[in-house]
Amino acid sequence: MPKKETKGQQLEKELLNKPKNVGELDNKILDKAQKFCEGYKEFLCNKTEREVVDYAIPILKKKGYKEFKIGTKYKAGDKLYYNNRGKALIMVTVGKRPVADGLRLGVSHIDSPRLDFKPNPLFEDIEMAYFKTHYYGGIKKYQWTTIPLSLHGVVTLKDGKVVKVRIGEDEGDPLFCITDLLPHLARNQMKKPANEIIEGEQLNVLVGSWPFDDEKVSAKVKLNVLKLLNEKYGITEKDFLSAELCACPAYKPRDYGLDRSMIGAYGQDDSVCAYASFMAELDCKSPDFTTVTVFCDKEETGSDGNTGMRSLFLKDFLEDFVSAYGLSARHVLQRSVCMSCDVNAAVDPAFAENYERNNSSYMNYGPIITKYTGGGGKYSTNDASAETMGYIRSILDEAEIPWQIGELGKIDNGGGGTIASEISLHNLDTVDVGVSVLSMHAPLEITAKADVYLLYKAVLAFYNCTRPKD
Ligand code: MN
Ligand code: MN
Repeated sequence: MPKKETKGQQLEKELLNKPKNVGELDNKILDKAQKFCEGYKEFLCNKTEREVVDYAIPILKKKGYKEFKIGTKYKAGDKLYYNNRGKALIMVTVGKRPVADGLRLGVSHIDSPRLDFKPNPLFEDIEMAYFKTHYYGGIKKYQWTTIPLSLHGVVTLKDGKVVKVRIGEDEGDPLFCITDLLPHLARNQMKKPANEIIEGEQLNVLVGSWPFDDEKVSAKVKLNVLKLLNEKYGITEKDFLSAELCACPAYKPRDYGLDRSMIGAYGQDDSVCAYASFMAELDCKSPDFTTVTVFCDKEETGSDGNTGMRSLFLKDFLEDFVSAYGLSARHVLQRSVCMSCDVNAAVDPAFAENYERNNSSYMNYGPIITKYTGGGGKYSTNDASAETMGYIRSILDEAEIPWQIGELGKIDNGGGGTIASEISLHNLDTVDVGVSVLSMHAPLEITAKADVYLLYKAVLAFYNCTRPKD
């Protein structure tokens, strides 16, 4: 005879919220997640916004997406995309309902913290050649020394031709790094506060040491490096001004842990959400509401610029898209809902005192619904309304997708934002949804595969939802 539940046990079930590790809810989920994350690892090999866009477009074309043509009145089931300067991307699947009923948006960013090159980067010192960098996004500078780096980007040559650069990713490519002081001589360095152990101007990537064979030349090593670049890409030193080059960690995305339950890779903030929403967009065949999946740039530096979410490119695109139906974008946006897909901090037992346990997110607890981000007294954030939270939560509950609450650590420990506030600026309901990450913004970030897979399920459920918000 099974033991009868006590009154207290029954009440516990009915009244209390007891989140569970998704591996305890359904142990088999890891098998599905393993399969799903094979594609994710491939996606993670694209380390800059340009590389992600270059990777995504051929896939979109293969899946029947057509480049957006202004003035076209698209029909239900039509799929289209809009490429903003090779650095941001909008993907659309037209829904069965009239566009006037509103859109279902999933927005993520495809830029990650890294080391951009300065406009005049190449110099020689003590007969070694270096590229001088200007770090991009919020990094702990000391984490970026003595790790394998690769070089990525584009250079516009004098004649206007754009050449793509990618060195250090392939087997057999040379390696790069930023050197650090040996511990034997680091007595003074180690007394410095952590943000000064390595300073911005010390983030110089060592790229050569062999002199050009000519006595008459002063900077022989630098000349030799430039000669090699010129032979391969046609680059001269002035061309660095018209370039976007950067150094990224050269780690390959890999399974992480003895149980292979995690992924260890660079750039998971926010490629994890970009990939999950990309797959949801591709798999969404005939949604009720029109879906709009956006990959944006520049999130890590404040969303400025014409490819960041503070640009009007999304609003302008929507204006063009909905005007074919005789609508204006603002009226459609008022009735739309957006999942702002970005990562949150997973509770790390080594730094547990920085998290408030009841309101922080955990590895393997499923997608995170984050009501607000920001800092201090709820500054600089989109604070999603109770109604919007209720709507998103009900979609996940109906699809039986476990979810968790997320707040970015303890109040007054710091803070951070997402693009949710840039989206909600356009007067649509927006909520942050994402995946928890260990060592966020470090050269090697860790996520749980089950969370990655369940975020995909969550975005897909949102895109396929048939119920209007109000
Ligand atoms: Mn992010
Ligand atoms: Mn970030």
